[in-house]
Amino acid sequence: SLVITAATGQLGRLVVDSLLARGTAPSDIVATGRSVDKLASLDVLGVRTAVLDYSKPETVAAAVAPGDTLLLVSGSEVGQRAAQHATVIAAAKDAGVARIVYTSAPKATTSALVLAPEHKATEETLVASGVPFTILRNGWYTENYAGEIEKARESGSIVASVGEGRVASASRKDYADAAAVVLVGDDHDGQVYELSGDVAWNFDELAAAIAGIVGRDVEYSRLTPEEHAALLASFGLDEGTVGFVVALDGNIRDGLLAETSGDLARLIGRPTTPLAEGLAAA
Ligand code: NDP
Repeated sequence: SLVITAATGQLGRLVVDSLLARGTAPSDIVATGRSVDKLASLDVLGVRTAVLDYSKPETVAAAVAPGDTLLLVSGSEVGQRAAQHATVIAAAKDAGVARIVYTSAPKATTSALVLAPEHKATEETLVASGVPFTILRNGWYTENYAGEIEKARESGSIVASVGEGRVASASRKDYADAAAVVLVGDDHDGQVYELSGDVAWNFDELAAAIAGIVGRDVEYSRLTPEEHAALLASFGLDEGTVGFVVALDGNIRDGLLAETSGDLARLIGRPTTPLAEGLAAA
């Protein structure tokens, strides 16, 4: 079977949908998550469901069977993820899984991206486990910028401290399709894919795409990191969150999310979803 973690989340659910659309039998799919309520909403798909909590190895043992392929979608509890993912990998190995596919981050083992260390640790744990693996180093989701649409509708601007930095984003569905392709394929063992959108856009282009959606002029207001931090603090964000957001914008300024390897389009056999289209759908 194909066991999908975090199927109660947005990416995992799209992977389940993509597998079904590609002809995988619902009975071959085990959609898992922590939330029992959210799992219940997957019943209509006809897939099997199971609770799988990254912090509870017994739930992993109960959800997987020998010979299964496991998609480990990175968790959302930043700071706890390296330990959680290691728990899942060890329990899955003990249960005899044949393969683990992990969703990581761009250049995770060498990148200065603030989010990279947990992904680096997980990749190293996975490689050391000896279980056949594929690593999907997912770039930024276009949907990360959906929240800017309503703000720009009100204010006519988007604010960021990314300078002239570019982002090669793709839609969640693009990454989900790539995961489905890798899950059903048989020639991806040991591969590390650098997945991103085909086009690295800058924030003037983001503003223009949002302008097209909201029907008014939108400009990119370039803040210094200090101005950005002060603005976020004035909204009441705590110091840790402010530091994280500003550091991520610094990462974008430094080009860490701008690489376009073409791996994603090659895997899914079509161009990635253009920025404006992905934003409009979000
Ligand atoms: P969502 O927030 O929609 O979903 C997160 C999922 O992770 C949920 O299904 C949740 O399960 C599950 N989860 C979190 N912690 C645990 C745990 N301890 N045990 C089991 N399941 C857990 O995220 P997305 O689907 O949008 O993104 C998937 C992942 O991609 C994120 O978790 C994050 O690692 C990463 N990400 C990547 C971004 C990018 O731009 N590339 C942006 C944002 C996140 P439940 O709800 O059932 O508890």
